Amino acid sequence: MQMSNKVKVIPCSGIGKVFGLVAREAALKTVVELCPEKAETVCLAYIVTGDEEVKAKMKDSGCITVDGCPKMCASKNVSLAGGIVVDEIKVLDTVKDHKGKKFGSPTELSDDGYLVVEEIAARIETRINEIA
Ligand code: SF4
Repeated sequence: MQMSNKVKVIPCSGIGKVFGLVAREAALKTVVELCPEKAETVCLAYIVTGDEEVKAKMKDSGCITVDGCPKMCASKNVSLAGGIVVDEIKVLDTVKDHKGKKFGSPTELSDDGYLVVEEIAARIETRINEIA
């Protein structure tokens, strides 16, 4: 796998949880639409397997993690792999500003779910522009 020293935006896996889907969508929106020249993503599972090439590349780049629940799987595992976590985004911090709304399901977000995705992606974009 060829990687650069772009900022790594790494969401948790969060399969089966709506906030996990929010985390993945926000990370993808950032690296594909908002900051493709400055950021890229890396599969969390690949990081967790401890691949030496991934570990080496992670050490050269700042990482922004996006986690769907307080277990903070992305942040913890990126740190364990030697990555420098420059910011850890918690989906729950953003959704608490949207009390009473329905965000969709683990497989499909509602309009309010996408609103949260956009807020989080904008925050990640701001952070990337501060550091890259
Ligand atoms: S942080 Fe929570 S939602 Fe995300 S992978 Fe871990 S347990 Fe699942």
